[in-house]
Amino acid sequence: MFSFTTIANYHQMLVQEKFTCTEAVQYYLQQIKAQEDLNAYVHIYAEEALERARQLDESRNKNLQQPLKALHGVVFSLKDVIAYAAHPVTAGSKMLHNFKSIYSATVVERLLAAEAIIIGHNNCDEFAMGSSNENPFYGAVKNAIDHLKVPGGSSGGSAVAVQADMCMISLGSDTGGSVRQPADFCGIVGLKPSYGCVSRYGLIAYASSFDQIGILSKTVEDAGIVLSVIAGKDDMDTTLYPNYFQWEQTGKNKTPKKIAYFKEALSHPSLDGEIRVAIDQKLQEWEKEGHEITPIDFPLLPYLVPTYYILTTAEASSNLNRYDGVKYGYRTSNTYTDLTSFYKLNRSEGFGKEVQKRIMLGTFVLSSGYYDAYFTKAQQVRQLLKDFMASVFLQYDFIVLPNVPGTAPFIGDKENDPIAVYLADIYTVLANLTGIPAISIPIDAHSNGMPVGLQILAAHQQEASLLHFAAVC
Ligand code: GLN
Repeated sequence: MFSFTTIANYHQMLVQEKFTCTEAVQYYLQQIKAQEDLNAYVHIYAEEALERARQLDESRNKNLQQPLKALHGVVFSLKDVIAYAAHPVTAGSKMLHNFKSIYSATVVERLLAAEAIIIGHNNCDEFAMGSSNENPFYGAVKNAIDHLKVPGGSSGGSAVAVQADMCMISLGSDTGGSVRQPADFCGIVGLKPSYGCVSRYGLIAYASSFDQIGILSKTVEDAGIVLSVIAGKDDMDTTLYPNYFQWEQTGKNKTPKKIAYFKEALSHPSLDGEIRVAIDQKLQEWEKEGHEITPIDFPLLPYLVPTYYILTTAEASSNLNRYDGVKYGYRTSNTYTDLTSFYKLNRSEGFGKEVQKRIMLGTFVLSSGYYDAYFTKAQQVRQLLKDFMASVFLQYDFIVLPNVPGTAPFIGDKENDPIAVYLADIYTVLANLTGIPAISIPIDAHSNGMPVGLQILAAHQQEASLLHFAAVC
Protein backbone atom coordinates (compact mmCIF):
# COMPACT_ATOMS: atom_id res chain seq x y z
CA MET A 1 0.00 0.00 0.00
CA PHE A 2 1.08 3.57 -0.67
CA SER A 3 2.70 5.39 2.23
CA PHE A 4 4.43 8.74 2.42
CA THR A 5 7.44 9.64 4.52
CA THR A 6 9.30 12.46 2.77
CA ILE A 7 9.28 14.16 -0.63
CA ALA A 8 12.73 12.71 -1.34
CA ASN A 9 11.55 9.19 -0.60
CA TYR A 10 8.34 9.66 -2.61
CA HIS A 11 10.32 10.89 -5.62
CA GLN A 12 12.61 7.90 -5.34
CA MET A 13 9.58 5.61 -5.38
CA LEU A 14 8.20 7.37 -8.46
CA VAL A 15 11.50 7.04 -10.29
CA GLN A 16 11.76 3.37 -9.35
CA GLU A 17 8.20 2.96 -10.60
CA LYS A 18 6.97 1.58 -7.30
CA PHE A 19 4.07 4.03 -7.36
CA THR A 20 2.55 6.64 -9.64
CA CYS A 21 1.20 10.10 -8.80
CA THR A 22 -2.25 8.76 -9.70
CA GLU A 23 -1.96 6.03 -7.09
CA ALA A 24 -0.85 8.61 -4.54
CA VAL A 25 -3.88 10.80 -5.25
CA GLN A 26 -6.19 7.78 -5.14
CA TYR A 27 -4.75 6.88 -1.77
CA TYR A 28 -5.34 10.37 -0.37
CA LEU A 29 -8.88 10.54 -1.75
CA GLN A 30 -9.66 7.26 -0.01
CA GLN A 31 -8.12 8.54 3.20
CA ILE A 32 -10.18 11.73 3.01
CA LYS A 33 -13.37 9.74 2.43
CA ALA A 34 -12.66 7.26 5.21
CA GLN A 35 -12.00 10.07 7.69
CA GLU A 36 -14.74 12.47 6.70
CA ASP A 37 -15.85 12.75 10.31
CA LEU A 38 -12.62 14.60 11.17
CA ASN A 39 -14.08 17.49 9.13
CA ALA A 40 -10.65 18.60 7.91
CA TYR A 41 -11.73 19.57 4.39
CA VAL A 42 -14.32 22.07 3.24
CA HIS A 43 -13.75 21.50 -0.49
CA ILE A 44 -12.22 18.49 -2.22
CA TYR A 45 -11.01 18.62 -5.83
CA ALA A 46 -11.06 14.88 -6.53
CA GLU A 47 -11.52 14.69 -10.31
CA GLU A 48 -9.19 17.52 -10.97
CA ALA A 49 -6.43 16.17 -8.71
CA LEU A 50 -6.70 12.76 -10.40
CA GLU A 51 -6.53 14.33 -13.84
CA ARG A 52 -3.47 16.37 -12.93
CA ALA A 53 -1.79 13.28 -11.49
CA ARG A 54 -2.53 11.38 -14.69
CA GLN A 55 -0.96 14.17 -16.75
CA LEU A 56 2.10 14.26 -14.52
CA ASP A 57 2.52 10.49 -14.81
CA GLU A 58 2.19 10.72 -18.56
CA SER A 59 4.71 13.53 -18.92
CA ARG A 60 7.18 11.69 -16.69
CA ASN A 61 6.85 8.56 -18.79
CA LYS A 62 7.72 10.58 -21.85
CA ASN A 63 10.77 12.22 -20.25
CA LEU A 64 12.24 9.53 -18.05
CA GLN A 65 15.69 11.10 -18.15
CA GLN A 66 14.55 14.50 -16.91
CA PRO A 67 14.99 15.23 -13.20
CA LEU A 68 11.70 15.66 -11.35
CA LYS A 69 10.62 19.18 -10.50
CA ALA A 70 10.90 20.06 -6.80
CA LEU A 71 7.26 19.24 -5.96
CA HIS A 72 6.45 16.81 -8.76
CA GLY A 73 3.28 14.96 -7.78
CA VAL A 74 3.40 16.19 -4.18
CA VAL A 75 -0.17 16.26 -2.89
CA PHE A 76 -1.03 19.51 -1.10
CA SER A 77 -4.03 20.92 0.66
CA LEU A 78 -4.63 24.63 1.27
CA LYS A 79 -6.13 26.40 4.23
CA ASP A 80 -9.41 27.99 3.20
CA VAL A 81 -7.85 31.47 3.18
CA ILE A 82 -5.52 30.88 0.21
CA ALA A 83 -6.90 31.76 -3.20
CA TYR A 84 -6.85 29.21 -6.02
CA ALA A 85 -8.31 30.55 -9.27
CA ALA A 86 -11.77 29.24 -10.16
CA HIS A 87 -12.04 27.41 -6.82
CA PRO A 88 -13.99 28.43 -3.75
CA VAL A 89 -12.19 30.26 -0.95
CA THR A 90 -14.42 31.12 1.99
CA ALA A 91 -12.17 31.92 4.98
CA GLY A 92 -14.32 29.42 6.84
CA SER A 93 -17.11 31.98 6.83
CA LYS A 94 -20.73 32.22 5.86
CA MET A 95 -19.73 35.68 4.63
CA LEU A 96 -17.90 34.10 1.68
CA HIS A 97 -19.73 30.79 1.44
CA ASN A 98 -20.44 31.21 -2.29
CA PHE A 99 -17.25 33.00 -3.29
CA LYS A 100 -14.85 31.71 -5.96
CA SER A 101 -11.36 33.12 -6.46
CA ILE A 102 -10.72 34.92 -9.69
CA TYR A 103 -6.96 34.55 -9.34
CA SER A 104 -4.47 32.30 -7.58
CA ALA A 105 -2.26 33.26 -4.68
CA THR A 106 1.41 33.55 -5.62
CA VAL A 107 2.15 30.52 -3.45
CA VAL A 108 -0.39 28.46 -5.40
CA GLU A 109 1.13 29.51 -8.72
CA ARG A 110 4.55 28.50 -7.43
CA LEU A 111 3.31 25.13 -6.14
CA LEU A 112 1.70 24.39 -9.48
CA ALA A 113 4.78 25.52 -11.44
CA ALA A 114 6.79 23.05 -9.35
CA GLU A 115 4.26 20.35 -10.40
CA ALA A 116 2.42 19.96 -7.11
CA ILE A 117 -1.14 18.61 -6.99
CA ILE A 118 -3.78 20.48 -4.97
CA ILE A 119 -6.39 18.16 -3.52
CA GLY A 120 -8.63 20.53 -1.58
CA HIS A 121 -9.19 23.40 0.82
CA ASN A 122 -9.12 22.84 4.57
CA ASN A 123 -11.43 23.91 7.34
CA CYS A 124 -10.04 26.66 9.62
CA ASP A 125 -11.15 29.14 12.24
CA GLU A 126 -13.32 31.81 10.65
CA PHE A 127 -11.05 34.41 8.99
CA ALA A 128 -8.14 32.66 10.75
CA MET A 129 -9.23 34.10 14.10
CA GLY A 130 -9.02 31.47 16.78
CA SER A 131 -7.03 28.61 18.22
CA SER A 132 -9.34 25.63 18.15
CA ASN A 133 -10.93 25.30 14.71
CA GLU A 134 -14.43 25.05 16.13
CA ASN A 135 -15.83 26.75 13.07
CA PRO A 136 -19.32 28.28 13.43
CA PHE A 137 -20.22 27.63 9.78
CA TYR A 138 -18.51 24.32 8.90
CA GLY A 139 -18.38 22.78 12.38
CA ALA A 140 -15.43 21.67 14.52
CA VAL A 141 -12.40 19.80 13.19
CA LYS A 142 -11.42 16.79 15.30
CA ASN A 143 -7.91 15.87 16.35
CA ALA A 144 -7.14 12.47 14.79
CA ILE A 145 -5.36 11.28 17.95
CA ASP A 146 -8.39 11.94 20.14
CA HIS A 147 -11.62 12.79 18.37
CA LEU A 148 -12.98 14.56 21.42
CA LYS A 149 -10.14 17.08 21.30
CA VAL A 150 -9.46 20.08 19.09
CA PRO A 151 -6.67 20.05 16.52
CA GLY A 152 -5.76 23.64 17.39
CA GLY A 153 -6.16 26.54 15.05
CA SER A 154 -6.59 28.43 13.09
CA SER A 155 -4.99 26.09 10.52
CA GLY A 156 -6.59 23.08 12.24
CA GLY A 157 -7.94 21.39 9.11
CA SER A 158 -4.52 21.67 7.49
CA ALA A 159 -2.84 20.14 10.52
CA VAL A 160 -5.26 17.21 10.65
CA ALA A 161 -4.97 16.67 6.89
CA VAL A 162 -1.21 16.12 7.35
CA GLN A 163 -1.52 14.30 10.68
CA ALA A 164 -4.12 11.81 9.41
CA ASP A 165 -2.55 11.21 5.98
CA MET A 166 -5.11 13.10 3.95
CA CYS A 167 -2.41 14.96 1.99
CA MET A 168 1.38 15.12 2.08
CA ILE A 169 1.81 18.77 2.99
CA SER A 170 -0.50 21.69 3.68
CA LEU A 171 -0.14 25.45 3.47
CA GLY A 172 -1.67 27.40 6.32
CA SER A 173 -1.36 30.93 7.62
CA ASP A 174 0.17 32.15 10.86
CA THR A 175 -0.76 35.54 12.31
CA GLY A 176 -0.17 34.68 15.95
CA GLY A 177 0.59 30.96 15.97
CA SER A 178 -1.96 29.42 13.63
CA VAL A 179 0.55 27.11 11.97
CA ARG A 180 2.75 26.29 14.96
CA GLN A 181 0.01 25.70 17.55
CA PRO A 182 -2.05 23.19 15.52
CA ALA A 183 1.19 21.50 14.45
CA ASP A 184 1.99 21.10 18.15
CA PHE A 185 -1.48 19.74 19.02
CA CYS A 186 -1.33 17.26 16.12
CA GLY A 187 2.28 16.10 16.49
CA ILE A 188 3.61 17.43 13.18
CA VAL A 189 6.02 20.16 12.00
CA GLY A 190 4.81 23.76 11.54
CA LEU A 191 6.94 26.53 10.08
CA LYS A 192 6.18 30.24 10.19
CA PRO A 193 8.69 32.04 7.98
CA SER A 194 9.95 35.59 8.60
CA TYR A 195 7.57 38.39 7.75
CA GLY A 196 8.52 39.30 4.18
CA CYS A 197 9.73 35.82 3.17
CA VAL A 198 6.61 34.47 1.43
CA SER A 199 4.20 36.50 -0.70
CA ARG A 200 0.82 37.24 0.90
CA TYR A 201 -0.76 37.94 -2.47
CA GLY A 202 -3.93 35.87 -2.56
CA LEU A 203 -3.99 35.25 1.19
CA ILE A 204 -7.22 36.54 2.75
CA ALA A 205 -5.99 39.16 5.20
CA TYR A 206 -6.56 39.00 8.94
CA ALA A 207 -3.85 41.34 10.31
CA SER A 208 -1.62 42.33 7.44
CA SER A 209 1.51 43.28 9.37
CA PHE A 210 1.46 39.89 11.15
CA ASP A 211 0.15 37.41 8.54
CA GLN A 212 2.54 34.93 6.91
CA ILE A 213 1.79 31.80 4.93
CA GLY A 214 3.36 28.81 6.65
CA ILE A 215 3.96 25.12 6.06
CA LEU A 216 2.56 22.08 7.86
CA SER A 217 4.49 18.91 7.11
CA LYS A 218 5.66 15.64 8.57
CA THR A 219 9.34 16.54 8.42
CA VAL A 220 11.53 19.62 8.67
CA GLU A 221 13.28 18.65 5.41
CA ASP A 222 10.01 18.81 3.51
CA ALA A 223 9.23 22.22 5.02
CA GLY A 224 12.62 23.36 3.68
CA ILE A 225 11.90 22.06 0.19
CA VAL A 226 8.47 23.68 0.09
CA LEU A 227 9.77 26.98 1.45
CA SER A 228 12.42 27.11 -1.25
CA VAL A 229 9.61 26.88 -3.83
CA ILE A 230 7.19 29.42 -2.32
CA ALA A 231 9.61 31.99 -0.84
CA GLY A 232 11.03 34.96 -2.66
CA LYS A 233 10.25 38.18 -4.39
CA ASP A 234 6.90 38.83 -5.91
CA ASP A 235 5.82 42.06 -7.57
CA MET A 236 2.39 41.64 -6.03
CA ASP A 237 3.64 41.99 -2.42
CA THR A 238 5.89 44.95 -1.69
CA THR A 239 6.70 43.78 1.85
CA LEU A 240 8.93 40.99 0.54
CA TYR A 241 12.66 41.00 1.11
CA PRO A 242 14.98 40.16 -1.77
CA ASN A 243 15.31 36.40 -2.26
CA TYR A 244 17.40 35.08 0.55
CA PHE A 245 16.20 31.58 1.33
CA GLN A 246 17.95 28.60 -0.13
CA TRP A 247 17.55 25.09 1.13
CA GLU A 248 20.23 22.50 0.77
CA GLN A 249 20.00 19.14 2.38
CA THR A 250 23.35 19.33 4.13
CA GLY A 251 22.97 16.20 6.20
CA LYS A 252 23.83 16.20 9.85
CA ASN A 253 24.99 19.70 10.61
CA LYS A 254 25.63 19.63 14.31
CA THR A 255 27.95 22.63 14.74
CA PRO A 256 27.54 23.89 18.31
CA LYS A 257 24.92 26.60 18.67
CA LYS A 258 24.24 29.26 21.26
CA ILE A 259 20.70 28.73 22.44
CA ALA A 260 18.81 30.87 24.94
CA TYR A 261 15.55 30.31 26.71
CA PHE A 262 13.43 32.79 28.64
CA LYS A 263 13.32 31.99 32.35
CA GLU A 264 9.90 33.63 32.73
CA ALA A 265 8.48 31.53 29.90
CA LEU A 266 9.55 28.16 31.26
CA SER A 267 8.56 29.01 34.82
CA HIS A 268 5.22 30.51 33.81
CA PRO A 269 2.42 29.24 36.10
CA SER A 270 0.20 28.40 33.12
CA LEU A 271 2.74 25.96 31.63
CA ASP A 272 1.89 22.27 31.99
CA GLY A 273 4.47 20.49 34.17
CA GLU A 274 5.10 17.65 31.71
CA ILE A 275 5.70 20.08 28.85
CA ARG A 276 8.22 21.95 31.02
CA VAL A 277 10.02 18.71 31.83
CA ALA A 278 10.06 17.61 28.17
CA ILE A 279 11.61 20.93 27.13
CA ASP A 280 14.13 20.83 29.99
CA GLN A 281 15.19 17.37 28.91
CA LYS A 282 15.61 18.49 25.33
CA LEU A 283 17.78 21.38 26.46
CA GLN A 284 19.89 19.05 28.56
CA GLU A 285 20.29 16.71 25.58
CA TRP A 286 21.48 19.61 23.45
CA GLU A 287 23.93 20.70 26.13
CA LYS A 288 25.41 17.19 26.18
CA GLU A 289 25.76 17.37 22.41
CA GLY A 290 27.89 20.50 22.82
CA HIS A 291 25.41 23.33 22.35
CA GLU A 292 25.54 26.21 24.79
CA ILE A 293 22.26 26.70 26.66
CA THR A 294 21.66 29.97 28.53
CA PRO A 295 18.65 31.13 30.56
CA ILE A 296 17.90 34.81 30.00
CA ASP A 297 15.41 37.32 31.40
CA PHE A 298 12.43 38.35 29.34
CA PRO A 299 10.60 40.99 31.37
CA LEU A 300 8.28 41.84 28.46
CA LEU A 301 6.50 38.46 28.51
CA PRO A 302 3.27 39.74 30.17
CA TYR A 303 2.83 42.36 27.42
CA LEU A 304 2.82 39.95 24.50
CA VAL A 305 -0.83 38.88 24.44
CA PRO A 306 -2.35 42.34 25.09
CA THR A 307 -0.11 43.95 22.44
CA TYR A 308 -0.96 41.23 19.94
CA TYR A 309 -4.72 41.47 20.47
CA ILE A 310 -4.80 45.28 20.32
CA LEU A 311 -2.83 45.46 17.08
CA THR A 312 -4.35 42.47 15.29
CA THR A 313 -7.93 43.43 16.07
CA ALA A 314 -7.19 46.98 14.87
CA GLU A 315 -5.83 45.63 11.59
CA ALA A 316 -8.67 43.13 11.31
CA SER A 317 -11.34 45.80 11.78
CA SER A 318 -9.83 47.67 8.85
CA ASN A 319 -9.22 44.58 6.65
CA LEU A 320 -12.72 43.19 7.16
CA ASN A 321 -14.42 46.46 6.21
CA ARG A 322 -14.60 45.22 2.64
CA TYR A 323 -17.15 42.52 3.48
CA ASP A 324 -20.31 44.57 3.19
CA GLY A 325 -22.36 42.34 0.90
CA VAL A 326 -22.51 44.91 -1.88
CA LYS A 327 -20.31 43.45 -4.61
CA TYR A 328 -19.79 39.93 -3.33
CA GLY A 329 -20.21 37.79 -0.26
CA TYR A 330 -23.18 37.11 1.98
CA ARG A 331 -26.26 39.24 1.42
CA THR A 332 -29.20 39.28 3.82
CA SER A 333 -32.63 38.14 2.76
CA ASN A 334 -34.19 40.22 5.55
CA THR A 335 -35.77 43.59 4.88
CA TYR A 336 -33.52 46.63 5.12
CA THR A 337 -34.51 50.26 5.03
CA ASP A 338 -31.30 52.06 4.06
CA LEU A 339 -27.64 51.42 3.28
CA THR A 340 -26.64 51.31 6.94
CA SER A 341 -29.26 48.74 7.88
CA PHE A 342 -28.27 46.73 4.77
CA TYR A 343 -24.60 46.67 5.92
CA LYS A 344 -25.60 45.83 9.47
CA LEU A 345 -27.74 42.89 8.46
CA ASN A 346 -25.13 41.52 6.04
CA ARG A 347 -22.32 41.81 8.54
CA SER A 348 -24.16 40.60 11.62
CA GLU A 349 -25.64 37.61 9.78
CA GLY A 350 -22.54 36.85 7.69
CA PHE A 351 -19.83 36.99 10.39
CA GLY A 352 -19.66 34.61 13.34
CA LYS A 353 -19.46 35.83 16.94
CA GLU A 354 -15.66 35.71 17.32
CA VAL A 355 -15.08 37.75 14.16
CA GLN A 356 -17.69 40.31 15.22
CA LYS A 357 -16.08 40.58 18.63
CA ARG A 358 -12.68 41.27 17.08
CA ILE A 359 -14.01 43.84 14.63
CA MET A 360 -15.65 45.71 17.51
CA LEU A 361 -12.55 45.51 19.69
CA GLY A 362 -10.38 46.73 16.81
CA THR A 363 -12.74 49.59 16.02
CA PHE A 364 -12.66 50.57 19.67
CA VAL A 365 -8.85 50.64 19.98
CA LEU A 366 -8.67 52.77 16.82
CA SER A 367 -11.39 55.21 17.89
CA SER A 368 -10.25 58.81 18.31
CA GLY A 369 -10.63 58.95 22.10
CA TYR A 370 -8.67 55.74 22.72
CA TYR A 371 -6.20 55.56 19.82
CA ASP A 372 -3.20 56.80 21.80
CA ALA A 373 -4.04 54.87 24.93
CA TYR A 374 -4.26 51.53 23.12
CA PHE A 375 -3.09 51.47 19.50
CA THR A 376 -0.14 53.89 19.81
CA LYS A 377 0.97 52.31 23.08
CA ALA A 378 0.82 48.82 21.58
CA GLN A 379 2.87 49.96 18.57
CA GLN A 380 5.49 51.28 20.99
CA VAL A 381 5.59 47.98 22.84
CA ARG A 382 5.94 46.17 19.49
CA GLN A 383 9.02 48.30 18.75
CA LEU A 384 10.46 47.51 22.18
CA LEU A 385 9.97 43.82 21.48
CA LYS A 386 11.68 44.08 18.09
CA ASP A 387 14.63 45.92 19.64
CA PHE A 388 14.84 43.40 22.45
CA MET A 389 14.82 40.42 20.10
CA ALA A 390 17.39 42.04 17.81
CA SER A 391 19.72 42.46 20.78
CA VAL A 392 19.17 38.85 21.90
CA PHE A 393 20.04 37.53 18.44
CA LEU A 394 23.32 39.45 18.50
CA GLN A 395 24.40 36.96 21.16
CA TYR A 396 22.41 33.80 20.47
CA ASP A 397 21.58 31.70 17.42
CA PHE A 398 18.20 30.48 18.63
CA ILE A 399 15.58 31.01 21.30
CA VAL A 400 13.57 28.09 22.60
CA LEU A 401 10.00 28.42 23.83
CA PRO A 402 7.03 26.12 24.35
CA ASN A 403 4.37 26.50 21.66
CA VAL A 404 1.44 26.35 24.02
CA PRO A 405 0.92 26.14 27.78
CA GLY A 406 -0.92 22.81 27.52
CA THR A 407 -1.85 20.00 25.17
CA ALA A 408 -4.95 20.04 22.95
CA PRO A 409 -8.11 20.77 24.98
CA PHE A 410 -11.51 19.13 24.53
CA ILE A 411 -13.89 20.43 21.89
CA GLY A 412 -16.28 22.86 23.58
CA ASP A 413 -13.87 23.86 26.37
CA LYS A 414 -13.26 27.36 25.07
CA GLU A 415 -16.86 28.33 25.70
CA ASN A 416 -16.05 28.26 29.41
CA ASP A 417 -13.18 30.71 29.34
CA PRO A 418 -12.54 32.79 26.21
CA ILE A 419 -9.89 34.95 27.94
CA ALA A 420 -7.88 31.82 28.79
CA VAL A 421 -7.94 30.96 25.08
CA TYR A 422 -6.35 34.33 24.21
CA LEU A 423 -3.80 33.95 27.00
CA ALA A 424 -2.76 30.57 25.61
CA ASP A 425 -1.24 32.45 22.66
CA ILE A 426 1.49 33.72 25.00
CA TYR A 427 4.33 31.75 23.39
CA THR A 428 3.49 31.99 19.72
CA VAL A 429 2.69 35.68 19.18
CA LEU A 430 6.24 36.90 19.82
CA ALA A 431 7.44 35.68 16.40
CA ASN A 432 4.62 37.55 14.63
CA LEU A 433 4.98 40.71 16.70
CA THR A 434 8.67 40.86 15.77
CA GLY A 435 8.50 39.31 12.28
CA ILE A 436 11.00 36.53 12.98
CA PRO A 437 10.85 32.90 11.79
CA ALA A 438 9.77 30.14 14.16
CA ILE A 439 9.23 26.42 13.88
CA SER A 440 7.26 23.96 15.95
CA ILE A 441 8.58 20.41 16.13
CA PRO A 442 7.18 17.41 18.01
CA ILE A 443 9.48 16.23 20.81
CA ASP A 444 7.51 14.01 23.14
CA ALA A 445 4.19 12.50 24.15
CA HIS A 446 2.24 13.64 27.20
CA SER A 447 0.89 11.10 29.68
CA ASN A 448 -2.59 12.09 28.42
CA GLY A 449 -1.64 10.64 25.03
CA MET A 450 -1.33 13.94 23.18
CA PRO A 451 1.83 15.16 21.46
CA VAL A 452 4.17 17.74 22.99
CA GLY A 453 6.03 20.17 20.77
CA LEU A 454 8.82 22.68 21.09
CA GLN A 455 9.26 26.04 19.41
CA ILE A 456 12.57 27.32 18.05
CA LEU A 457 12.92 30.95 16.98
CA ALA A 458 15.72 32.52 14.96
CA ALA A 459 16.68 36.02 13.84
CA HIS A 460 14.89 37.60 10.90
CA GLN A 461 15.71 35.85 7.60
CA GLN A 462 17.59 33.02 9.33
CA GLU A 463 15.23 30.27 8.10
CA ALA A 464 18.08 28.24 6.61
CA SER A 465 20.00 27.86 9.86
CA LEU A 466 16.74 27.40 11.79
CA LEU A 467 15.65 24.54 9.54
CA HIS A 468 19.06 22.91 9.50
CA PHE A 469 19.14 22.91 13.27
CA ALA A 470 15.53 21.76 13.65
CA ALA A 471 16.14 18.93 11.19
CA VAL A 472 18.69 17.27 13.43
CA CYS A 473 17.22 17.87 16.85
N1 GLN B 1 -4.86 32.27 18.08
C1 GLN B 1 -4.45 33.46 17.40
C2 GLN B 1 -5.63 34.36 17.15
O1 GLN B 1 -6.72 33.92 17.37
C3 GLN B 1 -3.70 33.13 16.15
C4 GLN B 1 -4.47 33.22 14.88
C5 GLN B 1 -3.60 33.08 13.67
O2 GLN B 1 -2.39 32.90 13.73
N2 GLN B 1 -4.23 33.21 12.51
O3 GLN B 1 -5.49 35.47 16.75
